[in-house]
Amino acid sequence: MSLESSQAVVLNFRPYGELDKIVTVYSEKKGRVTGMAKAAQHSRKRFGGRLDYFSLVNLYFEEKKRTSLFFFKHVELIENFESMKSSPLRCAYAGYLCELIMKMTPEREGDPSLFNVFKNVLGRLNTELGFKKYIRFFEIFLLKKIGLFPLLESCLGCQKKISFQEYYDLSFIQGGLYCFSCSQGKKIDWRLEKSVFDFLRNEPVEIEKLKDPENLKLQDFLHSYFSFQHGYDFKSVRYIKEIEKVYS
Ligand SMILES: [Zn+2]
Repeated sequence: MSLESSQAVVLNFRPYGELDKIVTVYSEKKGRVTGMAKAAQHSRKRFGGRLDYFSLVNLYFEEKKRTSLFFFKHVELIENFESMKSSPLRCAYAGYLCELIMKMTPEREGDPSLFNVFKNVLGRLNTELGFKKYIRFFEIFLLKKIGLFPLLESCLGCQKKISFQEYYDLSFIQGGLYCFSCSQGKKIDWRLEKSVFDFLRNEPVEIEKLKDPENLKLQDFLHSYFSFQHGYDFKSVRYIKEIEKVYS
């Protein structure tokens, strides 16, 4: 067994006994993994305060064959996103990104492109006023990566290419759209307005062009779609709503 290293973002941790910590990270090379950080509650040299929520680190670890836990040996801090951490609203959104990664990505499957988008969006949360459009970018990128992005090109019923409509009827369980004539009598979970539909259809996603009203509509749709796919509402979405009441 050899020492390996990877960039990683800390998603969650809890104390284990008096000395150790169990830490879950999203890493570039191994995806979402949980590991034991021995003596992390006390070892300033190997872990210090660097195993903190959302911190980007260089993680040194050993992967043992007979246990599902990794062994985290030490970390070097790359970025702790300090200005983000002083804003409860930005932290709430960072928590949402982490919850998406925790619940929607498979364990131990490295995906460097998803990791890079995650890291970059945390960077936007740290520095940009208009950070919310990048949250949408992350959600869309993630849905495409995990194969749950709805089919928007053709009708689920007649298979014909979807042409211009004022709105578009979406079935969550079928993962796609019905045209006007096929939607009659079908269970429709969401009605997408044209502006939101056009945005979702664009490839590549032109996130810089997303205006606030469309962003809000897209947010409502994506939150609802993720809840459906996951089977439960996300705790962090409820928390964001509470925080937004206070800070808006
Ligand atoms: Zn049809």
